[in-house]
Amino acid sequence: MSNVIQLLPDHVANQIAAGEVVQRPASVIKELLENSIDAKASRIQVVIKDAGKSLIQVIDDGVGMNLTDARMSFERHATSKIKIADDLFSLKTKGFRGEALASIAAIAHVELKTRTEDDEVGTCLKVEGSQVVSQDACVTPKGTGISVKNLFYNIPARRNFLKSDNVETRHIIDEFQRVALAHPDISFSLTHNGNELFQLPVASFRQRITNILGGKTNEKLVPVEEDTEIVKVSGFVGKPEFAKKSRGEQFFFVNNRFIKSPYLNHAVVAAYEGLLKEKSYPTYFLYLEVDPKSIDINIHPTKTEIKFDDEHALYAILKSSIKHSLGQFNVSPMLDFERDGELDTPYDYKDKEVKVPEVEVDRNFNPFQDESSPKPQYSGGGGGYKRDRQPEWESLYSGMQSETETETDLDVGQIEFESEEVTGNLFGAKQEQTEKSTFQVQKKYIVSTLKSGILVIDQHRAHTRVLYEELLKNITVSSAVSQQLLFPLRLQFNHQEVEMLKEIKESLEQTGFIFSEIKKDEVEITGIPTLIAESEVEILLEQLLADFEKDVPDNGFSQTDLLAKSLAKSMAVRSGTLLNSAEQQHIVNRLFACKEPAVSPFNKTVFTTLSVDELDKKFA
Ligand code: ADP
Ligand code: MG
Repeated sequence: MSNVIQLLPDHVANQIAAGEVVQRPASVIKELLENSIDAKASRIQVVIKDAGKSLIQVIDDGVGMNLTDARMSFERHATSKIKIADDLFSLKTKGFRGEALASIAAIAHVELKTRTEDDEVGTCLKVEGSQVVSQDACVTPKGTGISVKNLFYNIPARRNFLKSDNVETRHIIDEFQRVALAHPDISFSLTHNGNELFQLPVASFRQRITNILGGKTNEKLVPVEEDTEIVKVSGFVGKPEFAKKSRGEQFFFVNNRFIKSPYLNHAVVAAYEGLLKEKSYPTYFLYLEVDPKSIDINIHPTKTEIKFDDEHALYAILKSSIKHSLGQFNVSPMLDFERDGELDTPYDYKDKEVKVPEVEVDRNFNPFQDESSPKPQYSGGGGGYKRDRQPEWESLYSGMQSETETETDLDVGQIEFESEEVTGNLFGAKQEQTEKSTFQVQKKYIVSTLKSGILVIDQHRAHTRVLYEELLKNITVSSAVSQQLLFPLRLQFNHQEVEMLKEIKESLEQTGFIFSEIKKDEVEITGIPTLIAESEVEILLEQLLADFEKDVPDNGFSQTDLLAKSLAKSMAVRSGTLLNSAEQQHIVNRLFACKEPAVSPFNKTVFTTLSVDELDKKFA
């Protein structure tokens, strides 16, 4: 038998490597930007068309390449950045694998124009599917410009696999931002289909962050600074009250390279302990400088994961330095040692007699009487619930309440407390009433009797289903009514969020929102859906954008669907909300008027039944 093993031809090997390095247009941008930075560029321009699917162009003013280097740069394992294996352990550059250009040229039409300072004429090279198709001398400014056209032209399966333009653009912006945030000393611009999305001048870290995420970001930032033998930490964390509904604004940079690290993220979140609301994520931009010898960036082909020698120490340092910064920010207004205490008393009052403050006592107040506590108010016609804010004292008790609830979980006596109607009915109420009656278990389930047994409904899921169908109807039939706001609501969002809002603006307007102005990092709202309380608008939109961030469907219907789902989820009563019997019955009735009452819009079970037969078995 003849030999069967052969070396793969170069262009095949390159295509395979491309599969690892280039997943989507954003990966190309990342590699090209990194090359420009390694080439010591001070200005980098990025131009894309059709989310990078038809054109990605990166132009820099870096050191450029001479003719031979230009030719070499497209060879696999061609790199100027390491010469001996030891160099791997003291990397200061971003690239070192020598794979990127070879991979990109294997799956696209690439044009390279480059010139070094010393050369008078530059080189223009065209490479298509790993083949050099032309090579000319050309006039070009010092530096390098690379255009990548028709990405994946020779791998249709990969091309079809690409997501919508919106999603691919979002990935590109993500990569662009990460690189730009790590290098405020370089000026960057990004233009998409002729629109300039970013124009970032050379700046400080803080300015760069605000230039990217919007001017309002500045006041949300608290500086973090710590210098130890193992690591130098600098950067900013967000004040807790500005924590976001999504992880969108979380950045770690290690030696100026963006990395992902669930472990270090944990350290940050731990530093915020007790300061964050549920399901909110702190903003952070943290720059770590470590000895290149103490990390291994080699473990991931796209280099966003990293291994540290001394992870535990890093964790501890990060956590304590952030805690310190947050602490300083929290107490500093109170501990102002420079000031003279006397000045704090307004002069008018200085010589006045001290008066004992009066205390008003509500003698009728009984903390154990549930009726006295404000309940969610049923808003009637619109069908929504406008929850009044819980008074301070009530939230103090809420923890204790649930504790006793779980303690008495199995106590038969508890049933009586859950609902008076039930006990009432036990003592001879009419059959009709029994059928309608409902009660709540653990402020989570609504229980109702059926002719054939018992019905148990998950209140949150049921309400989500009801709102979802209603919203969907509103949007598709455009029958939504809007409530005009007395004073327009101005909400701040970052640049990318505003872009997303614009994409879904039309659908949102069909639910009743009225946007009077959309600026770069601020929107003005003059009308909102009748189902929503004004105080909830901000949190609702934030949640909505967080949901859309994962995937914005291009097609109108699925966009509407996602919108309705997200709004319904945020607006629906939560588990843990006490509902009075009118509210309970309202949910039950509306649920069964729905087209698909049995499952929530997220395909979860909404209710379950327990038949008399099943009950009988239990008592057999
Ligand atoms: P790596 O960055 O891992 O070395 P690449 O395939 O990305 O591998 O690039 C190969 C080589 O081409 C680089 O080592 C560098 O010498 C050269 N090169 C690539 N892009 C540029 C650029 N924008 N300016 C100057 N030289 C570049
Ligand atoms: Mg590179």
